[in-house]
Amino acid sequence: MLKKMLLHVCCANCVLHPYETLKNDFDVTLYFYNPNIHPDKEYDKRLSCARQAAEKYGLTLIEGPYDKNNWLDMTYDYRNDPEGANRCEVCFNIRLEKTAVFAAENGYDIFATTLSVSPHKNSKIINNTGKMLSEKYGVEFFEADFKKQDGFKKTMLLSKELDLYRQNYCGCVYSIRN
Ligand code: SF4
Repeated sequence: MLKKMLLHVCCANCVLHPYETLKNDFDVTLYFYNPNIHPDKEYDKRLSCARQAAEKYGLTLIEGPYDKNNWLDMTYDYRNDPEGANRCEVCFNIRLEKTAVFAAENGYDIFATTLSVSPHKNSKIINNTGKMLSEKYGVEFFEADFKKQDGFKKTMLLSKELDLYRQNYCGCVYSIRN
């Protein structure tokens, strides 16, 4: 029997290639938890695309809360950081912690995230965060660097085939400014 995996989805484009690499080894459920996304209209667009991807693969998509004010409070001290610095580390932690808690409370064997498929995201930081949360909540974390072996290119090709919406900024209000 395959292990039950809760896969945090940062956006629909980023789930395509990671899912292709995981689907034979895990029983995957998608988890959309991204309170970083700004503004509301953009959040709705990305969520709607995630639903589209879930439907295409016949997967369950669990929608976490859009608690954006909490995210803004927790990252406020880092608002002037460039993309890739401390604010992003806090942002990864917020999103992965919610995923780890949901996985632990709902009988998943393992949790993972699609975040590392992006060439702009540091996989080492993502994996260290996942491992720390794994110990904290007692649920296994799947370490990955999905951008390897042209992972980002592959996910973008799949996205074009599906004609999915592709955003031009990471997600938060500060990344629009950049
Ligand atoms: S740039 Fe992206 S990863 Fe960094 S804080 Fe903003 S939304 Fe999060």
